[in-house]
Amino acid sequence: MTGLTDAHCHLQDHQFWGDLEAVIQRANTFGIRRFIVNGTCPKDWERVAKLAQAYPQISPQFGVHPWKVEGLPESWEEELKSYLFRYPDAGVGEIGLDRQLTQAPLDLQETIFSKQIKIACELKRSCTLHVIKAWDEISNPLRENSPAKLLFHSYGGQGVGFSRSDNYFSLGGAILRKNSSEKIKTLIRSIPADRLLLETDSPFQHPDGKDNRQEPAGLLRVAEKVAQLRGITIRDLCQQTEKNMERFL
Ligand SMILES: [Zn+2]
Repeated sequence: MTGLTDAHCHLQDHQFWGDLEAVIQRANTFGIRRFIVNGTCPKDWERVAKLAQAYPQISPQFGVHPWKVEGLPESWEEELKSYLFRYPDAGVGEIGLDRQLTQAPLDLQETIFSKQIKIACELKRSCTLHVIKAWDEISNPLRENSPAKLLFHSYGGQGVGFSRSDNYFSLGGAILRKNSSEKIKTLIRSIPADRLLLETDSPFQHPDGKDNRQEPAGLLRVAEKVAQLRGITIRDLCQQTEKNMERFL
Protein backbone atom coordinates (compact mmCIF):
# COMPACT_ATOMS: atom_id res chain seq x y z
CA MET A 1 0.00 0.00 0.00
CA THR A 2 1.48 3.36 -0.97
CA GLY A 3 -0.43 5.38 1.58
CA LEU A 4 -3.84 6.67 2.46
CA THR A 5 -5.39 10.13 2.13
CA ASP A 6 -7.43 11.83 4.82
CA ALA A 7 -10.05 13.29 2.46
CA HIS A 8 -11.23 15.96 4.92
CA CYS A 9 -9.57 17.48 7.96
CA HIS A 10 -8.78 20.84 9.60
CA LEU A 11 -5.11 20.74 10.55
CA GLN A 12 -5.15 24.55 10.76
CA ASP A 13 -7.33 24.32 13.88
CA HIS A 14 -5.87 25.77 17.08
CA GLN A 15 -6.02 22.32 18.66
CA PHE A 16 -3.02 21.39 16.49
CA TRP A 17 -0.94 24.51 17.04
CA GLY A 18 1.27 22.89 19.68
CA ASP A 19 2.17 19.55 18.11
CA LEU A 20 1.31 19.41 14.41
CA GLU A 21 4.67 17.92 13.46
CA ALA A 22 4.08 14.97 15.81
CA VAL A 23 0.48 14.59 14.57
CA ILE A 24 1.67 14.34 10.97
CA GLN A 25 4.44 11.92 11.87
CA ARG A 26 1.99 9.73 13.76
CA ALA A 27 -0.32 9.67 10.74
CA ASN A 28 2.61 8.76 8.47
CA THR A 29 3.46 5.86 10.80
CA PHE A 30 -0.05 4.52 10.21
CA GLY A 31 0.30 4.92 6.44
CA ILE A 32 -1.67 8.17 6.10
CA ARG A 33 0.43 10.29 3.77
CA ARG A 34 -1.84 12.94 2.30
CA PHE A 35 -4.20 15.39 3.97
CA ILE A 36 -6.95 17.47 2.36
CA VAL A 37 -7.09 20.46 4.70
CA ASN A 38 -10.28 22.51 4.53
CA GLY A 39 -10.47 26.17 5.49
CA THR A 40 -13.59 27.43 7.25
CA CYS A 41 -13.48 31.25 7.12
CA PRO A 42 -11.24 34.13 5.93
CA LYS A 43 -9.50 34.12 9.34
CA ASP A 44 -8.06 30.64 8.87
CA TRP A 45 -7.24 30.70 5.15
CA GLU A 46 -3.75 32.10 5.65
CA ARG A 47 -2.92 29.33 8.10
CA VAL A 48 -4.20 26.71 5.62
CA ALA A 49 -2.01 28.33 2.94
CA LYS A 50 1.05 28.32 5.22
CA LEU A 51 0.54 24.64 6.05
CA ALA A 52 0.32 23.79 2.34
CA GLN A 53 3.63 25.61 1.81
CA ALA A 54 5.30 23.88 4.74
CA TYR A 55 4.04 20.35 4.03
CA PRO A 56 3.90 18.97 0.48
CA GLN A 57 1.55 16.27 1.83
CA ILE A 58 -1.15 18.88 2.47
CA SER A 59 -3.63 19.83 -0.26
CA PRO A 60 -5.47 23.03 0.67
CA GLN A 61 -9.12 23.94 0.19
CA PHE A 62 -10.52 27.40 0.90
CA GLY A 63 -14.10 28.20 1.77
CA VAL A 64 -16.65 29.66 4.20
CA HIS A 65 -18.24 26.99 6.38
CA PRO A 66 -22.02 27.30 6.91
CA TRP A 67 -21.46 27.93 10.64
CA LYS A 68 -19.24 30.93 9.89
CA VAL A 69 -21.29 32.96 7.43
CA GLU A 70 -22.07 35.80 9.87
CA GLY A 71 -19.82 38.87 10.16
CA LEU A 72 -17.75 38.17 7.06
CA PRO A 73 -15.55 41.04 5.85
CA GLU A 74 -16.88 42.80 2.75
CA SER A 75 -13.90 41.65 0.75
CA TRP A 76 -14.36 37.93 1.48
CA GLU A 77 -15.12 36.92 -2.12
CA GLU A 78 -12.06 38.73 -3.46
CA GLU A 79 -9.95 37.16 -0.71
CA LEU A 80 -11.28 33.70 -1.51
CA LYS A 81 -10.49 34.14 -5.20
CA SER A 82 -7.00 35.39 -4.41
CA TYR A 83 -6.26 32.21 -2.40
CA LEU A 84 -7.67 30.07 -5.21
CA PHE A 85 -5.48 31.89 -7.74
CA ARG A 86 -2.45 31.39 -5.50
CA TYR A 87 -3.22 27.66 -5.27
CA PRO A 88 -4.36 26.53 -8.70
CA ASP A 89 -4.97 22.97 -7.48
CA ALA A 90 -7.02 23.98 -4.43
CA GLY A 91 -10.71 23.20 -4.21
CA VAL A 92 -13.49 25.23 -2.57
CA GLY A 93 -14.31 23.87 0.89
CA GLU A 94 -15.68 23.49 3.40
CA ILE A 95 -18.95 24.99 2.24
CA GLY A 96 -22.60 23.98 2.52
CA LEU A 97 -25.89 24.30 4.36
CA ASP A 98 -26.81 23.20 7.87
CA ARG A 99 -30.31 23.31 9.36
CA GLN A 100 -29.43 21.52 12.59
CA LEU A 101 -26.11 22.39 14.18
CA THR A 102 -25.95 26.18 13.81
CA GLN A 103 -27.99 29.28 14.56
CA ALA A 104 -26.68 31.01 11.42
CA PRO A 105 -29.72 32.11 9.37
CA LEU A 106 -30.45 29.72 6.53
CA ASP A 107 -31.03 32.48 3.97
CA LEU A 108 -27.59 33.93 4.69
CA GLN A 109 -26.06 30.44 4.46
CA GLU A 110 -27.77 30.00 1.08
CA THR A 111 -26.46 33.34 -0.23
CA ILE A 112 -22.87 32.61 0.81
CA PHE A 113 -23.08 29.04 -0.48
CA SER A 114 -24.40 30.09 -3.91
CA LYS A 115 -21.66 32.69 -4.29
CA GLN A 116 -18.99 30.11 -3.52
CA ILE A 117 -20.48 27.57 -5.93
CA LYS A 118 -20.36 30.25 -8.64
CA ILE A 119 -16.71 30.99 -7.88
CA ALA A 120 -15.90 27.25 -8.01
CA CYS A 121 -17.57 26.98 -11.42
CA GLU A 122 -15.84 30.10 -12.74
CA LEU A 123 -12.42 28.84 -11.67
CA LYS A 124 -13.21 25.18 -12.47
CA ARG A 125 -12.57 23.89 -8.95
CA SER A 126 -13.97 20.98 -6.99
CA CYS A 127 -16.11 21.61 -3.90
CA THR A 128 -16.24 19.90 -0.51
CA LEU A 129 -19.76 20.05 0.91
CA HIS A 130 -21.19 19.95 4.44
CA VAL A 131 -24.91 19.21 4.27
CA ILE A 132 -27.03 18.63 7.35
CA LYS A 133 -30.79 18.35 7.04
CA ALA A 134 -30.72 20.67 4.02
CA TRP A 135 -30.74 18.34 1.04
CA ASP A 136 -33.72 20.00 -0.65
CA GLU A 137 -32.22 23.45 -0.16
CA ILE A 138 -28.84 22.45 -1.54
CA SER A 139 -30.18 20.97 -4.76
CA ASN A 140 -31.37 24.22 -6.38
CA PRO A 141 -28.11 26.19 -6.37
CA LEU A 142 -26.31 23.05 -7.53
CA ARG A 143 -28.70 22.74 -10.47
CA GLU A 144 -27.99 26.33 -11.51
CA ASN A 145 -24.22 26.14 -11.12
CA SER A 146 -22.68 22.74 -10.89
CA PRO A 147 -18.97 22.50 -10.08
CA ALA A 148 -17.07 19.79 -11.89
CA LYS A 149 -16.59 17.56 -8.85
CA LEU A 150 -18.33 17.43 -5.49
CA LEU A 151 -17.19 15.72 -2.31
CA PHE A 152 -19.99 15.16 0.21
CA HIS A 153 -18.08 15.02 3.46
CA SER A 154 -19.15 12.91 6.44
CA TYR A 155 -21.86 11.52 4.22
CA GLY A 156 -24.92 10.37 6.10
CA GLY A 157 -26.86 8.72 3.31
CA GLN A 158 -29.65 11.23 2.71
CA GLY A 159 -30.29 13.37 -0.29
CA VAL A 160 -28.34 13.13 -3.49
CA GLY A 161 -28.19 9.89 -5.38
CA PHE A 162 -25.16 8.35 -6.94
CA SER A 163 -26.17 9.14 -10.51
CA ARG A 164 -23.62 11.87 -11.20
CA SER A 165 -20.31 10.18 -11.81
CA ASP A 166 -18.22 13.01 -10.38
CA ASN A 167 -19.81 13.08 -6.93
CA TYR A 168 -17.71 11.55 -4.16
CA PHE A 169 -18.83 10.50 -0.70
CA SER A 170 -16.50 10.37 2.26
CA LEU A 171 -17.07 8.47 5.47
CA GLY A 172 -15.64 9.55 8.80
CA GLY A 173 -15.52 8.93 12.54
CA ALA A 174 -19.29 9.20 12.94
CA ILE A 175 -19.69 5.71 11.45
CA LEU A 176 -17.65 4.28 14.33
CA ARG A 177 -19.96 5.81 16.91
CA LYS A 178 -22.97 4.06 15.44
CA ASN A 179 -21.23 0.85 14.51
CA SER A 180 -24.09 -1.40 15.43
CA SER A 181 -26.72 0.46 13.46
CA GLU A 182 -28.23 -1.35 10.47
CA LYS A 183 -28.70 2.03 8.77
CA ILE A 184 -24.96 2.66 8.85
CA LYS A 185 -24.18 -0.78 7.46
CA THR A 186 -26.63 -0.25 4.60
CA LEU A 187 -25.18 3.21 3.94
CA ILE A 188 -21.59 1.98 3.83
CA ARG A 189 -22.50 -0.79 1.41
CA SER A 190 -24.62 1.47 -0.78
CA ILE A 191 -21.85 3.86 -1.89
CA PRO A 192 -20.43 2.74 -5.26
CA ALA A 193 -16.84 1.55 -4.88
CA ASP A 194 -15.52 4.15 -7.32
CA ARG A 195 -17.01 7.11 -5.36
CA LEU A 196 -15.95 6.20 -1.84
CA LEU A 197 -13.44 8.25 0.20
CA LEU A 198 -12.29 8.16 3.83
CA GLU A 199 -11.83 11.08 6.23
CA THR A 200 -11.39 11.99 9.87
CA ASP A 201 -12.67 15.63 9.99
CA SER A 202 -9.88 16.12 12.58
CA PRO A 203 -9.89 17.59 15.17
CA PHE A 204 -13.64 16.91 15.22
CA GLN A 205 -15.69 13.68 15.10
CA HIS A 206 -13.55 11.61 17.45
CA PRO A 207 -15.34 8.25 17.65
CA ASP A 208 -15.24 8.36 21.47
CA GLY A 209 -16.99 11.72 21.72
CA LYS A 210 -16.50 15.40 21.06
CA ASP A 211 -14.31 16.07 24.11
CA ASN A 212 -11.52 14.08 22.47
CA ARG A 213 -9.31 15.48 19.73
CA GLN A 214 -9.44 13.41 16.57
CA GLU A 215 -6.30 13.27 14.43
CA PRO A 216 -5.53 11.84 10.99
CA ALA A 217 -3.88 8.72 12.50
CA GLY A 218 -7.48 7.76 13.38
CA LEU A 219 -8.20 7.19 9.69
CA LEU A 220 -7.06 3.61 9.96
CA ARG A 221 -9.91 2.79 12.36
CA VAL A 222 -12.39 4.27 9.89
CA ALA A 223 -10.83 2.23 7.06
CA GLU A 224 -10.97 -0.98 9.10
CA LYS A 225 -14.65 -0.51 9.87
CA VAL A 226 -15.57 0.33 6.27
CA ALA A 227 -13.59 -2.66 4.93
CA GLN A 228 -15.23 -4.98 7.45
CA LEU A 229 -18.75 -3.80 6.64
CA ARG A 230 -18.18 -3.92 2.89
CA GLY A 231 -16.71 -7.40 3.25
CA ILE A 232 -13.40 -6.58 1.54
CA THR A 233 -9.79 -6.49 2.70
CA ILE A 234 -8.40 -3.25 4.01
CA ARG A 235 -5.74 -3.40 1.27
CA ASP A 236 -8.40 -3.53 -1.46
CA LEU A 237 -10.38 -0.73 0.18
CA CYS A 238 -7.33 1.51 0.44
CA GLN A 239 -6.28 0.88 -3.16
CA GLN A 240 -9.79 1.76 -4.32
CA THR A 241 -10.14 4.93 -2.21
CA GLU A 242 -6.72 6.15 -3.33
CA LYS A 243 -7.67 5.65 -6.96
CA ASN A 244 -10.83 7.65 -6.27
CA MET A 245 -8.84 10.39 -4.59
CA GLU A 246 -6.54 10.70 -7.61
CA ARG A 247 -9.62 11.25 -9.75
CA PHE A 248 -11.09 13.78 -7.32
CA LEU A 249 -7.97 15.93 -6.97
ZN1 LIG B 1 -15.01 19.64 8.38
